[in-house]
Amino acid sequence: MPDTILPGHGSGGKLMNDLIHDTIRETLGNESIQLDDSAVLQLPGRQIAFTTDSYTITPIEFPGGNIGSLAVNGTVNDLAVMGAEPLYLSCSIILEEGLPLDELKRVLQSMRAAADYAGVSIVTGDTKVVPRGKGDKIYINTAGIGVFTSPPQRHDIIPGDAIIINGYIGDHGTAVMAERNKLSFSRGLLSDCAPLNMLIQQVIQSYPSSIRFMRDATRGGVASVLNEITKDRPFGAKLIENSLPVHDEVRGVSELLGIDPLYIANEGKVVIITDGKDAPGIVEEMKKIPEGKDAAIIGEITDNYTGSAYITTRVGGNRMLPLLIEEQLPRIC
Ligand code: MG
Repeated sequence: MPDTILPGHGSGGKLMNDLIHDTIRETLGNESIQLDDSAVLQLPGRQIAFTTDSYTITPIEFPGGNIGSLAVNGTVNDLAVMGAEPLYLSCSIILEEGLPLDELKRVLQSMRAAADYAGVSIVTGDTKVVPRGKGDKIYINTAGIGVFTSPPQRHDIIPGDAIIINGYIGDHGTAVMAERNKLSFSRGLLSDCAPLNMLIQQVIQSYPSSIRFMRDATRGGVASVLNEITKDRPFGAKLIENSLPVHDEVRGVSELLGIDPLYIANEGKVVIITDGKDAPGIVEEMKKIPEGKDAAIIGEITDNYTGSAYITTRVGGNRMLPLLIEEQLPRIC
């Protein structure tokens, strides 16, 4: 373990996992900290989901969103993927001296619009200002509370289960990177930044006992989610390359930069592991909701390559999808 913090400690890869397990959780409380998208808490008479997330993305405005919409949707999604219905958010803002008020207003307007669309209320917050040069325009932390109207969607995964995604992968990371580097050939590509709670509730209500597991594929992308669920488990996760929805612009930028869309961050994509026999019906339900219109079955849980994620390529070979040491694109969320 390095003895100073590296950029990779904030990515979705192995460096970050080691920091969380060996240093943060070890010190703050192994017994109390739940390493899931949200903590599930038992209050008198009711179970709730509670989560928090900080946003440091640069640039703060990007095609398809800004740090404000990202901060609302990201926290909504961490509640939604547990099966909870998000209700209340906090908003804590750290501002750098010199930030134009107009930029702050645009961020706040996006937060409000995203909250209204997702059906959540921002109910409390905090504002701090740091001197010029000690921050980067604006950082936002949002925490959120959700309630369960059905049990938390966490069940044992078994071979034969299907892997579903609600649409095109890699759009967020690619759109932000293109904006950052002023790449002109990705013109028109937007971040997929969106709330997943309506989509997920649609699935839960139509198939209440089919979902085994859900996770939003943010930092580290779809491949990192599949690594998390297969790690030390007696099954593997197989993707089918021909079934993966990838926009041409994402494919093009990825090939140019030598990165894999399966590892690129999404901000409106959920990986759902379900009972295999219900998967086609679930995809049909997802297509009824705007955030799920391009939903597809992209793979399955297998007895092969236990403990690993892999992909069957177009030409028929299998390629392993290891957990990366660090995210290729820092400060993407
Ligand atoms: Mg998450």
